[in-house]
Amino acid sequence: MTETVTLAHGAGGQQTSDLIDQVFKKHFANPYLTADDAAVLPAPKGRIAMTTDGFIVSPAFFPGGNIGKLSICGTVNDLSCMGAKPLYLTCSFVIEEGFPMEKLEEIAAAMEKTAAECGVRIVAGDTKVAGKGQVDGVFITTTGVGEIAEGVETSGAKAAPGDAVIVTGDIGRHGCTILLLRDEFGIDADVTSDCAPLWGAVESILRVAPDVHVIRDATRGGVGTVLYEIAGQSHVGIRISQPDIPVQPAVRGVCRMLGLEPLYLACEGRLVIFVRAEEAEQVVEALRQTPYGTGAAVIGHVTEDYPGKVVMTTEIGTQSMLPRPGGELLPRIC
Ligand code: MG
Repeated sequence: MTETVTLAHGAGGQQTSDLIDQVFKKHFANPYLTADDAAVLPAPKGRIAMTTDGFIVSPAFFPGGNIGKLSICGTVNDLSCMGAKPLYLTCSFVIEEGFPMEKLEEIAAAMEKTAAECGVRIVAGDTKVAGKGQVDGVFITTTGVGEIAEGVETSGAKAAPGDAVIVTGDIGRHGCTILLLRDEFGIDADVTSDCAPLWGAVESILRVAPDVHVIRDATRGGVGTVLYEIAGQSHVGIRISQPDIPVQPAVRGVCRMLGLEPLYLACEGRLVIFVRAEEAEQVVEALRQTPYGTGAAVIGHVTEDYPGKVVMTTEIGTQSMLPRPGGELLPRIC
């Protein structure tokens, strides 16, 4: 095979089948992935969840992952938030002519590894090649189907006064990692993306709190945006305590330098969870036993007061309204 992707790889002929065989089939092989027009799959018994997401992160490779890993995590995590065990995934690639074959294979290998980790099968795919300059490197869209655990009904509209608000670990690392890779800031710090597949974390929550009210992954817009979304959807107020919010010192340092609020930096491996207060401790304990939940913590609770708003108590005990999420800090973060 050539060292870079050429327009011929997207033309549907011999080169296309070479690319599929040598890069994609090699990494995604499973009994459901065939050469037919669509995957034929056993249907789950109960309800299913289905979701789709496009990934255009720049740069495509970053400390802690690459666009391939991210494209699996993003869709797996959205399914997981609905209490759905991820079953099947499709992926669609748009690749720029001239993209290094070696990099494409690295992306496919990361997808294979991440999919295997959470037991999801890649059952169909598509490859298109666009001319030089028509896309930037590689864009990936993944669509996923999951089976919702029996009796589980999570929704952003179910937060209730008294609920505890939990995050599964330190926040803002993905956004901070991408920001540091962009030349314009000229800051050096050792930060790795939190990008991770979270079905295992959700399973651990469901075991101890099957009636969990809300699970949402904090991605673009960070935890702060999720809190405002839930406050709005559930018509409740949320009070959080700044000293209880886990933030890595390096991330905190970068935020101080640039005047940023870590609550609004993107995460790609963190959940925000709303459960009844009496279940909170058990949920935190269960999460801490999982690989991506070791830093789980309660950061606040839901109130009847000030519906639709998020209030933060600071380290020195003052209270202030968390500013509402504004415009995009950085484009192409995921
Ligand atoms: Mg989501």
